[in-house]
Amino acid sequence: MMPVASDIVTVSDLKQFAFCPRIPYFSRVMPIRPPATELMERGQRLEEEFRRLEVRRSLSRYGWDRAKRHFGVYAMSESIGIAGRIDLALEREDAVAIIDVKASGGFVGDNHRMQAAAYQILAAEHFKKPCLCAFMYFLDRGCVERLELDAAWTERLRRAIEGIRAMSASHDFPPATAYRNACEQCEYRNFCGDVF
Ligand code: SF4
Repeated sequence: MMPVASDIVTVSDLKQFAFCPRIPYFSRVMPIRPPATELMERGQRLEEEFRRLEVRRSLSRYGWDRAKRHFGVYAMSESIGIAGRIDLALEREDAVAIIDVKASGGFVGDNHRMQAAAYQILAAEHFKKPCLCAFMYFLDRGCVERLELDAAWTERLRRAIEGIRAMSASHDFPPATAYRNACEQCEYRNFCGDVF
């Protein structure tokens, strides 16, 4: 059965929830939409550049040479009520993989693993084929990391979806992130006086 719109949790919500639960609180419950930061605008520019160049590149760096590319795939899972836009999906006859582009030189964190888990479920339902893996492409490092969905991350994803829905229903203000050094650059910092 199709979930109702207010129950839909986005991949962005899930990624942010794993990093700082206050971010989906501000965007879903308040809701507050701060203007795009320079960092976000840079990310958008780099993603557009990736898309322009990627059509000419070989897929060998992913090990999916003969796959068909699908850019910007909007997908929704009726089974778990999540939705998101996949930067690039690679489709073979028997399976799919997804690529998520990161406009940073960072490393894989829990927020990325949560995002990868969600995208893999979305891709599998959208293409009706197993999704074998997710690739996180860190543009500033020029490095591709491969992630696979396992039972532990499926369970963490399920709990995060429930957590976001519960927070949206109760309006309980969640605790601040444990990664306090990220607060300086957060677009919601003006609403988090208690962390400064
Ligand atoms: S300022 Fe820090 S605690 Fe507040 S929403 Fe941003 S990351 Fe979370």
